[in-house]
Amino acid sequence: MISLNEAREHVLDRVGTLAVVTVPVAEAAGLVLATDAVAAEQVPPFDNTAMDGFAVQAADTIGAPVTLEMIGTVAAGAAFDGTLGPGQAVRIMTGAPMPSGADAVVMVERSTLDEAAGTVDLEIEVPVGNHVRGAGEDSQPGDLLFPAGTQLTAGHLGVLASVGLQAVEVVKRPRVGVVSTGDELVDDGRTLKPGEIRDSNRRTLLTLVAEAGWEAVDLGIAVDEKAAIETAFVNGAATCDAVLSSGGVSMGAFDYVKVVLDEIGDMRWMQIAIKPAKPFAFGLIGDTPMFGLPGNPVSSMVSFELLAKPALRKMAGESEFGPRVVRAVSADSLGHPADGKTHFLRVEGAQDEFGRWTVRRAGGQGSHQLTAMARADALAMVPDGEAMEPGDEVDIIVLR
Ligand code: AMP
Ligand code: MG
Repeated sequence: MISLNEAREHVLDRVGTLAVVTVPVAEAAGLVLATDAVAAEQVPPFDNTAMDGFAVQAADTIGAPVTLEMIGTVAAGAAFDGTLGPGQAVRIMTGAPMPSGADAVVMVERSTLDEAAGTVDLEIEVPVGNHVRGAGEDSQPGDLLFPAGTQLTAGHLGVLASVGLQAVEVVKRPRVGVVSTGDELVDDGRTLKPGEIRDSNRRTLLTLVAEAGWEAVDLGIAVDEKAAIETAFVNGAATCDAVLSSGGVSMGAFDYVKVVLDEIGDMRWMQIAIKPAKPFAFGLIGDTPMFGLPGNPVSSMVSFELLAKPALRKMAGESEFGPRVVRAVSADSLGHPADGKTHFLRVEGAQDEFGRWTVRRAGGQGSHQLTAMARADALAMVPDGEAMEPGDEVDIIVLR
């Protein structure tokens, strides 16, 4: 058996960042910038008002209350085409450009408009620049908005839209194929025949890929026949940036996964000192990373979190790969007798107001017991042979 770290380092060493592509900003959520994003325009594009109210010359408000002559109205999206002079006011709506000649805004709440007289009474004195948002206060042409390596979230995309950028250079979104292997698998809802089970791994793995922001490609079920497995893997490797298969990596008699991958790929077969998810295979089919995940439903998910996801994050251009580990207190006894493995227990829990986690077992811990995995908020990492009693601290990998 090798350590989890050794297995993960091996995988990370063998995958590289995907190609740089130009994509519309509208499709860039979650992607990683390959080049610096630089502002081409100033934001805001013009001086404008932060408040509904009256644009004035600040000097005219000295000694308020004062009465000024109303010479017009300007809404957002319009522009006032005259020039405001001393003693005058223009009614103005939030976001509208400041009329030329005006240097301050009095908020509408501190004014009384007399439409008949064509005047406005202003209750307060305001300084120059009052409620005025200056052109370029958010960004200036040439400003470095975000450096290469930034993973684009909603706020980033809003900024790119605000400076009029239509497209960005990013690392390609990984396209990840998922295939299930096994004669026993059924996925069409029909009544099960003796020995058959339903394929759950494909659903969980496709969803984990999609939740990470990557493109999930359903490669279907390959039955335990050499030709079927080879067709699925070759097709997956040709059309995807990475392939995840589940099943057939342990020691079963009909495990053609191993036979096929050794023929078409350059694979390393690993036994990792963890439970669940001990068997794991990784290699390349041509240039395409191939992850052979274990078949047991919990194992395939744990294997994805610990091994495939970090590699896919590297391929996607992210700068941090590993799962997020935080310290928690266990309310249950989590220890296990020494077996040479780190155990990843499915735990439920919550954070208190200081952000401190308390966790307890999420249910049955068998690698086939997917409901506990589904309920789990985290995986508790219990070192080999450690007696972990209620109240002890434990490292957890937060799953959501
Ligand atoms: P294997 O590694 O192919 O021997 O599979 C190990 C265990 O996982 C067996 O009990 C399989 O029936 C089960 N298994 C394999 N693939 C799937 C799948 N896609 N969905 C649910 N269980 C599976
Ligand atoms: Mg199998």
